[in-house]
Formats: sequence, structure tokens, C-alpha cells
Amino acid sequence: MKLIDAHCHFHAYQEEECRKFKYITIVAVSDDYKSSIKTCELSKKFKNINPFIGIHPWNINNLVDEELRLLKEFLENQRCIAGIGEVGLDFKFSKAPIYLQLKIYEKFCKIAAEKNLPLNVHSYSAWKEAMIYATRNDVPSVLFHWYNGPEGLLKEIKDNGYFISINPACAIQSKHRNIVEKASEDIILTESDGPYVYRNIHLNSSKIIQILEIISKVKKISLEDASQIVATNYDRYMMRL
Ligand SMILES: [Zn+2]
Repeated sequence: MKLIDAHCHFHAYQEEECRKFKYITIVAVSDDYKSSIKTCELSKKFKNINPFIGIHPWNINNLVDEELRLLKEFLENQRCIAGIGEVGLDFKFSKAPIYLQLKIYEKFCKIAAEKNLPLNVHSYSAWKEAMIYATRNDVPSVLFHWYNGPEGLLKEIKDNGYFISINPACAIQSKHRNIVEKASEDIILTESDGPYVYRNIHLNSSKIIQILEIISKVKKISLEDASQIVATNYDRYMMRL
């Protein structure tokens, strides 16, 4: 069965964990310039990972312009880069002012559009804005990770050919489980956001199978079908279909 982890901080895993998850196709997002370099390095050794580079909205500070310049330079010189992320907006937990978050996010949207790369987005409490900026900059493919935004936006996500990902937290987070119910099958991907601990759940790539079990239960389809649907959505997200 094909397993997809569409949002994972692979660079933060211990070496033995990296080896343990070789059977899973992973979108390896970065948090800043330094982790972007590490992620690309790791992708040479671990062929199951797809390196994404970016600056997490929690890491936007006074040095962000310089860091962005370095990242752009890096992008020009690397062929391995498969996408842009984790980037985005967080109006609740980021210490960066909103105007600066919007400015940096828009720059990443423009890079993704210009280079024709998929975008992997953090949009906590800024779902609508994250969507508006992506569409107005013609970002070709977007994943709103651990989507807990308004149900009303799901249709817009689908109509734009964009995606959401479901986190193992759906086992205990009723809001997130509700999203599994409401979202159309053809916009759903699976993710771990690992390595991270959320309400005693150790989030890592081994949990993907459990999300598929929940999807299959909620959508009343077989586990095989759930896995196949997510795998096809992944190929669409990566613009390989
Ligand atoms: Zn993340």
C-alpha cells in the first residue's frame, strides 16, 4: 500500500528515524534557511523524500529579508528542490507583525508561481488570507496543511485544484475529524507534521496508516481505496498528473 506523508519536518528526525520511514513517500518541509540546506542534503541520501524549502511564519524576524535572499540564491543553484514550504501565515501564534507575514508569504507565492512549484502552507487562523494570496499570485498547486479552517473554504480549495492534509490529530481533534467528513475525497492528503508531540500523540510518519484507517471509516471506503485516492491526490499536488 502506498503511504504519503505530505507535510513532515524530516530534517528534525534522528538518523535512525529517517531510515525507519524509507517505505513512505515524504514531503520534507523546512523551517528556515539552515534547515532548507539540511533537507536538500538529506534528499540525496533518502530517495523517498521530496525537499521543500521555506521560512515558517513562526521564524519570521528582522533577518527575514536576508534569509529570503539566501534561499532564492539557493533555489537557483539546486536542482533537487521539489517545492516551497513550510511557508504561510499565523495570526495567532507568530510573533511577527501581520504586515510582514503577508509580505513574506506573498514573495513565496510569487516564487512558487514563477518556478512552477507546489506550495506547502501553514495557515492557522489566517486560512482565508492564505487562500486569497495564493490565488491572486497564480500559485499552481497549494496544500493547506493540518487544515482546521472554515468548512466553507473547502469548496474554494477544491475549485482551485488545491489540497488539504489530514494530521494524526484527527483521532482526537473533533474539529479536524469533521473536516475529513466534509472535505471532498479528491482534495485530501495525509501528513504527520512530525516530529512533534500533540496532546500526547507522537506525531511522526508511522502514523500515516492510522489516518488512512480513519479516512476509510469516515468515507466508507476500503483502506486500499483510501490509500489509492491519497496517492493520486499526491501526484496531482506535485503536478505529476
Ligand atoms: Zn509543520
